[in-house]
Amino acid sequence: MTEQKINHFKDDYLVQATAKQGLLRCLAVRTTDLVKQVRNIHDLAPVSSVALGRLMSGALLMAADLKNEQDRLTLIIKSDGDISNVTTIATPDGKVRGYVIDPHAMSRYKSIGKLDLAQAVGQGNLTVIKDLGLKEPYIGSVELVSGEIAEDLASYYFYSEQVPTVIFLGVRLNQQGIAAAGGMMIQALPGVDDETLNWLEQRCVGFPDLSELIAEGISPHQLLDMLLGADAELEYLAETPVEYHCECNRDRMTRNLLLLGNTELTELSGDPDGITLNCHFCATDYHYSQAEVKQLAETALTIKNGWI
Ligand SMILES: [Zn+2]
Repeated sequence: MTEQKINHFKDDYLVQATAKQGLLRCLAVRTTDLVKQVRNIHDLAPVSSVALGRLMSGALLMAADLKNEQDRLTLIIKSDGDISNVTTIATPDGKVRGYVIDPHAMSRYKSIGKLDLAQAVGQGNLTVIKDLGLKEPYIGSVELVSGEIAEDLASYYFYSEQVPTVIFLGVRLNQQGIAAAGGMMIQALPGVDDETLNWLEQRCVGFPDLSELIAEGISPHQLLDMLLGADAELEYLAETPVEYHCECNRDRMTRNLLLLGNTELTELSGDPDGITLNCHFCATDYHYSQAEVKQLAETALTIKNGWI
């Protein structure tokens, strides 16, 4: 349980719960402010905002059951549409970052106000990487079933982890940009019976547009109440504030530069202006002067020769 005081009707946060005597695992998250922030960082077009906002919301829901603070969940969509690559990384303590290779993808509409995300994403694959601090990360991949992202994540759980899962994700736009964003996930736990699964399916049929509910001020707690209703025996567990957070720093960038090796760094050190690296996730620039690049080239040589 976090010590930070959460305003349930305003702040971005994630809530976890169980229902039906522990047979269902339930999560809901509001991500309105963090999607607004990522739109500003990357200057995203409407359809790019929706793609990245949905994937980040999904990643936060999926990362919530990682056990250790250092664990990381990465989602990557690679496809053949205008939006060809979306990447996001989330932690179990509610931090997420992400980028889309095509920030200014063409935004086409299915009808007034309804973006055609599936067409913008096209066909491709979803890859899920769980870095649990072991020697090798766990990697699973499924073909996209719709490109709408929620169904694609549910398909991953069904085919790769054999866990029946319902996921709702939504990003709502208005004239100013992002009006509301969030997600909801219900998973069946081992021992679940057909009756409970059928009941859940019935509850999901015709559920209103999630982002519209969030835009109206419905909190994550209330979303779960609405979806599952009074018969669900909902028990709320932890709640966690969620935020956009990048882990980059100068040391990390320097280590990346050293990986280039002596030859390439020597070549780069020919530029009197030095070099500038840009973080994909938060757009921060890291500048290295010509003298610094020369020094790094020497360090890379020392590493190669086994002195460090
Ligand atoms: Zn960064």
